[in-house]
Amino acid sequence: MVTHQNNPKNNGDVKNLNLSEADFKQHGDVKNLNLSEADFKQLSREQRGQLIAQKYRITRTDKGFEVPSQFNKGKYLVKVMYEKKECNCPDYEIRREKCKHIFAVEYTLKEEIDREGNKVITQTVKKTYPQNWKSYNISQQTEKERLMELLSDITGRIRQPAYIMGRPKASLGDNVFAMVFKTYSTFSGRRFATDMRWALEKGFIDSKIPYNTMFDYFKKPELTSLLAQIVILTSLPLRTVETKFNIDSTGFGTSNFQRWYSFKHGKEICSRRWVKCHFINGSKTNVVTSVKITTENDNDCPQLPELANKTAEYFNMEELSGDKAYLSRENLELVDDLKGKLFVPFKTNSKPSGNGMIWKKMYHYFMLNNEKYLQHYHTRSNAESTVNMIKGKFGDRVRSKLWTAQINEVLCKIIAHNICCVIMEMNELGVESNFCPNTQETAREV
Ligand SMILES: [Zn+2]
Repeated sequence: MVTHQNNPKNNGDVKNLNLSEADFKQHGDVKNLNLSEADFKQLSREQRGQLIAQKYRITRTDKGFEVPSQFNKGKYLVKVMYEKKECNCPDYEIRREKCKHIFAVEYTLKEEIDREGNKVITQTVKKTYPQNWKSYNISQQTEKERLMELLSDITGRIRQPAYIMGRPKASLGDNVFAMVFKTYSTFSGRRFATDMRWALEKGFIDSKIPYNTMFDYFKKPELTSLLAQIVILTSLPLRTVETKFNIDSTGFGTSNFQRWYSFKHGKEICSRRWVKCHFINGSKTNVVTSVKITTENDNDCPQLPELANKTAEYFNMEELSGDKAYLSRENLELVDDLKGKLFVPFKTNSKPSGNGMIWKKMYHYFMLNNEKYLQHYHTRSNAESTVNMIKGKFGDRVRSKLWTAQINEVLCKIIAHNICCVIMEMNELGVESNFCPNTQETAREV
């Protein structure tokens, strides 16, 4: 009998093994690997997924891919919808991001063995995003200073709320500057303090902001709408560039936990709380044009009208694409009212009639021009790269402990991301950076 350990040809690749399904079941167990369970848990999700793909039989059914669970008898189902994959394991359900099972399926898809035993190379197209390296490098070098400059251009215009009694409050604008800049820097307190001193010397802020005061501002609920406005403001320089948009949502982890009883898994589960960020981004520059923060329990579909309305207020929204979660008659009609087209994949049980004219029109468009429709729909992958940009640069967690502070912190990440997009485009396309063209004379002298 061939096992993984004594097969000399085994270089960790399923295709070199001549195993029957029964063998797989017998040996497809973490205990037979050279790794201990503790070691296994140290690996990244991607590495674990690769191991699962190598050691387990992943079966394709008409519902999706069945991936055996490693630690009990069950199976998880990975559904593949175009390039979006979903899994029904707790990890995916909570994080809404690639779990080890999805990584395992992706790995399997690269080299698939079909039922007859013939090797079938399934084409997996690696997504690459065109990058203008020259302007990228310039961006990196000057980004921090540019960001401070552009940020202070906005925060310097925030009107100080009138105070009634007591000692004057610290400058609102300077505090917002500190909040966004802190989020951008992802620095610890001390390194951030050095940067803030520099910001004061350069005149980007007017007063010294004590660290604790800035944290108090993160907790203020009245800052949420101001920060959401700044998100829109920072997207405006790119309004001539963007006509195609994507809608999606992503979760940011918190350090808060909750306990709940899962009937599906038959046990109490202690899970991390998430802050869910719903957003629309421009396809070309990944700039976020509208944003809404909810708890992890809020659905995607009902968020579309508010986000689409806000984007269409400033942008010529010709196209908006999203995954099937956004499919509803209301959403299709709303985007149509905004003179745009909504591209969402229709569900297999979607019917052409009974849902109004626009639904019918899009349904037939979808059925007749499937390839074309999917091309539009595929610009959706830009939403994914927007998420990667934000999380890669500013982290996929929030540090704040309180709900309001968590919302404000995510908004600060988006503002920092938007300013970086603008800086990038300034170098690449020569976009005017001025956020408020009418008050040009008061802007900084460059
Ligand atoms: Zn999973």
